[in-house]
Amino acid sequence: QEEIVLSIKIIAYGGDKKLLISRDVTHLERIDTMRRDFVANVSHELRTPLTVVNGFVETLLDMEDRDCDMAKRGLQLMGEQTERMTRLVDDLLTLSRLESDSSVLHEETVDVPALLDLVLQEGQRLSNGQHTLTLHLENQHKLLGNRAELHSAFGNLCSNAIRYTPAGGEIILRWQDVDGQAVFSAQDSGIGIAPQHLPRLTERFYRVDRSRSRETGGTGLGLAIVKHIANRHQAKLDISSEEGKGSTFSLVFPNRRNAD
Ligand code: ADP
Repeated sequence: QEEIVLSIKIIAYGGDKKLLISRDVTHLERIDTMRRDFVANVSHELRTPLTVVNGFVETLLDMEDRDCDMAKRGLQLMGEQTERMTRLVDDLLTLSRLESDSSVLHEETVDVPALLDLVLQEGQRLSNGQHTLTLHLENQHKLLGNRAELHSAFGNLCSNAIRYTPAGGEIILRWQDVDGQAVFSAQDSGIGIAPQHLPRLTERFYRVDRSRSRETGGTGLGLAIVKHIANRHQAKLDISSEEGKGSTFSLVFPNRRNAD
């Protein structure tokens, strides 16, 4: 059941006559709640790594005879957390740039097959030999779009496929032509997603399993970024998944974006 929020103003005029004005502000209220939640989430996400770093800095400073192993471990953890924070801040900045009205799409002809070769190599580095990664180029379409943004969208979907697939699993990247529409997809044989989560996956900081996302270095912003990039290219993000079996994330581009 949906709650409706009304703003009511009572205006008195002409002695005991009163005018009651009511306005439906449900939408504004919802936006405000989302904004507040967002700020709260951001602060929370930024604070956790900072607490770890600060804790270790204090411990290292307090140590009388500095145990070398302890110092090394502390410094290693600090390094990991600051890296995580940098990723988070970078993703936040990317997202706010994509969201700002003034951010126009600088279009060019993007050689998608060549770009996907690069995404595959980056994926192989991330997987570190733990998965089988393949790229099926079923068409050679170039696309009208922004190369950096497309790189980010394809890269995010590929790295998610790797991060949510246990070692030994398989990841297939495809560039296909389906009824004249160019389609990119990243298919994995990973943990999959239960259906109730699917509609919320592209919300910022929405994660099915917070600890798994953290463990694998996620910022919780990847799919929100992908969704924005898809919208800017009039593309559709399709997700199909089965828990325990794997997922396929696809970007379907309208045929007028074909550049060849
Ligand atoms: P994160 O940085 O947490 O990966 P994303 O926005 O990229 O953030 O993804 C949001 C959530 O969607 C993830 O936390 C994860 O629960 C789920 N998810 C994304 N991609 C996959 C995938 N290929 N397989 C299973 N779950 C996925």
